[in-house]
Amino acid sequence: MPAPGKAYIPVQCQQCENPPCVKVCPVKATWPEPDGIVVIDYNQCIGCRCCMSACPYGARHFNWSEPSLPADQVNPNMHVLGNRPRMRGVVEKCTFCIQRTRKGLLPACHDACPTGAASSATSSTPSPRSGSSSPPSGSSVLKSELGTHPKFFYFYS
Ligand code: SF4
Ligand code: SF4
Repeated sequence: MPAPGKAYIPVQCQQCENPPCVKVCPVKATWPEPDGIVVIDYNQCIGCRCCMSACPYGARHFNWSEPSLPADQVNPNMHVLGNRPRMRGVVEKCTFCIQRTRKGLLPACHDACPTGAASSATSSTPSPRSGSSSPPSGSSVLKSELGTHPKFFYFYS
């Protein structure tokens, strides 16, 4: 990189409007919230990993070990469906920083990105579920042919 015709892009949970990961969960431990964020209840998750197989974006990951974080590095601003430490044996994914975005802030990746590349991709919070909405002008979504209706929009310059 750079190479003609090639690009690296971040691919996290696309906060799908029609999420296949939700449909396969045998214990209803994952669902889309009214504001469009797809969440996981880590206390309900049994770690079967069906959702990992169902996600066409590889956005879910299994926790193989207990979290080990020094107490002074634990973020006290936690959300039960968001950034709290996830225990061994459950699946997790990007939570669209629910503990921030519900307060009107942008996701932490937006603030941390050294090149500002995340600004276009994350400046729109997932919109309320509204059927098959189209990507904003000038943007595209990944694997649109699958009918998942992602809420992450990619702008290319
Ligand atoms: S990207 Fe994957 S994990 Fe995220 S909502 Fe869509 S199907 Fe589910
Ligand atoms: S790993 Fe957890 S969230 Fe995923 S399908 Fe199984 S129980 Fe549901």
